[in-house]
Amino acid sequence: MDTNLPVTSQPRIVIIGCGFAGLRLAKDLADSPVQVVVIDRNNYHNFQPLLYQVATGALEADSIAYPIRKIFAGQQNFFFRMADVERVDTGRNTVVTNIGEIRYDHLVVATGSLTNYFGLDSIERNAMQIKSIPNALNLRSYLFQNFEKALLTEDPAQRQALLNVVVVGGGPTGVEICGSLAEMRKDVLPQDYPELDLKQMEIYLVESGEEVLGPMSKDSQVQAKQYLEEMGIHVRLNMKAQRFESGKLYYSETEYIRTENLIWAAGVNGAAVEGLPEAAVARNKRINVDTVNRVLGFQNVYAIGDVANMVTEEMPRGYPMLAPVAIQQAEQLAANFKRLFQGEALKPFKYLNKGSMAIVGRNRAVVDLPGNKHFGGFFGWLTWLFVHLLTLVGFRNKVVTLVGWAISYFSSDKALRLIIRPYKRNDFKDDKGKSSAQHNASTPQYNPSVPTPTASVVGG
Ligand SMILES: Cc1cc2nc3c(=O)[nH]c(=O)nc-3n(C[C@H](O)[C@H](O)[C@H](O)COP(=O)(O)OP(=O)(O)OC[C@H]3O[C@@H](n4cnc5c(N)ncnc54)[C@H](O)[C@@H]3O)c2cc1C
Repeated sequence: MDTNLPVTSQPRIVIIGCGFAGLRLAKDLADSPVQVVVIDRNNYHNFQPLLYQVATGALEADSIAYPIRKIFAGQQNFFFRMADVERVDTGRNTVVTNIGEIRYDHLVVATGSLTNYFGLDSIERNAMQIKSIPNALNLRSYLFQNFEKALLTEDPAQRQALLNVVVVGGGPTGVEICGSLAEMRKDVLPQDYPELDLKQMEIYLVESGEEVLGPMSKDSQVQAKQYLEEMGIHVRLNMKAQRFESGKLYYSETEYIRTENLIWAAGVNGAAVEGLPEAAVARNKRINVDTVNRVLGFQNVYAIGDVANMVTEEMPRGYPMLAPVAIQQAEQLAANFKRLFQGEALKPFKYLNKGSMAIVGRNRAVVDLPGNKHFGGFFGWLTWLFVHLLTLVGFRNKVVTLVGWAISYFSSDKALRLIIRPYKRNDFKDDKGKSSAQHNASTPQYNPSVPTPTASVVGG
């Protein structure tokens, strides 16, 4: 198949992925004398930090996604192809996709990350993940399907399992989704399900480490745990999920928590593309890059964002998988492309940490700023809302989100609880139906010290 891209005498830069990194790079190359070709399997950019609000009925999916073609309307050197990249052929400077082959002069891999189940097959088969908009919508449907089923069962143990929710992973995603579920239990479910005894519904946050929000300050960790407990969430630290069978999440050989609703937010791997040499891909499936984001062993192949494994003295385990890192690497690479075309030396990446934050619920958030400054409560919550609103793509999305949040704040209601597409468990895979374990068989073992996508200041 021909991808029908215009022939050009300018260098062609192909970017795989239009997440935070790919989008910023393509934008920053707008005035450069290059042809920019972006490939993504979706025709929209997805604002992942707010996925949990879609999953819990607080926001519409459309308000956290934005059509890629609309973002780039008017950018003359920009071309988009909606396609799945199957592999790269670096020998022929070609990307192989499901719609045909695309030649490049420079290739930038910005494919983000995939959920890592650490080889726990029973969990991978049956847990829900939240990496994509379809995942979030499926999760929303599934929770409400189970509440409907809870009304029908005569068996108290089965009812308990249908109502209970267990979230594994005490990073920002786990903390944020638990908080949102607790608000749903308090404000929404009693109105919709007066026949159910919601005191039976327990929400558990299971974390294998010693604290929640691992990479944040001690103050934030303690405050977030306190918020979670105030909201009635059972925080189980130093507890490792081991297997999930017949509505039971086992954390030892014999001990378990009963649940039909298991949400896995415990780890991610890089989403490295196929076709790179083994030495270029680290164990966690991130792509090894040097300090200018060039893939080791190549002159014209780069990786940025979550998928890039840039190990430095300052960051011996690689930079955290965060939106600001992705955005800043993209900005730096765009500037370096300009230097390259002018025959100048490239400058190494330096991360400017603007802080991190996580929200637990209404008027409850924690914020760490550089210089060991911490605050929380109402001002933390306002800061979180403001930063996330500012960084959402598109004016319409900002307005719709702001209005949605204002309505929820004053009415304590989450309006979006439709079961549009009833969902079966066992299909909670990423957009492609793949988890990282399936993506590549040699999955590292479950190790809480491996950095997972962590908190949380978006923008940068
Ligand atoms: C639930 C959740 C909450 C988060 N919260 C925060 C937060 O509060 N703060 C924060 O800073 N970070 C947060 N993160 C992390 C943040 O979203 C990532 O660090 C960021 O998205 C990385 O950007 P990226 O461009 O590298 O990858 P992504 O944004 O993941 O983009 C990758 C793109 O590549 C495309 N793609 C992948 N493979 C292929 C292929 N083979 N073919 C075609 N297209 C492909 C995907 O469709 C996607 O559009 C969160 C992540 C999740 C999942």
